[in-house]
Amino acid sequence: MKGETALLARIASGHCKVGAYFLKMHIDAPDAPIACPCGTIDIQTIVHVISDCPITDPARHLIENEDGDVDLATLFTDKIDSFLKWLKATHSFTRRFGEALGPVSPRQGASDLVGFSVVD
Ligand SMILES: [Zn+2]
Repeated sequence: MKGETALLARIASGHCKVGAYFLKMHIDAPDAPIACPCGTIDIQTIVHVISDCPITDPARHLIENEDGDVDLATLFTDKIDSFLKWLKATHSFTRRFGEALGPVSPRQGASDLVGFSVVD
């Protein structure tokens, strides 16, 4: 959980592995792409990865509210458990982003996470 807490802090501050940050910090490296690997956006942003990216779409129901929207303000509070599961499944803001998603519970019964472990 220590690593997750550190990652959350970096996401909250914007200092995480995301294209907009690499651009801002003038980081130019093969493992620091500015564009999102999904190919739909030239400058990858945190909001894009969380709310819009097709790569994370299969797991988005984990962090959506009842209206089907993602409220960024609740991800670090009310939805923190779901957000951690989403981060783990999608590899967002890590070097592994763009790889196949981890197991994600189906939209129906999202609280019953069959085949998904949050234990490290
Ligand atoms: Zn994307």
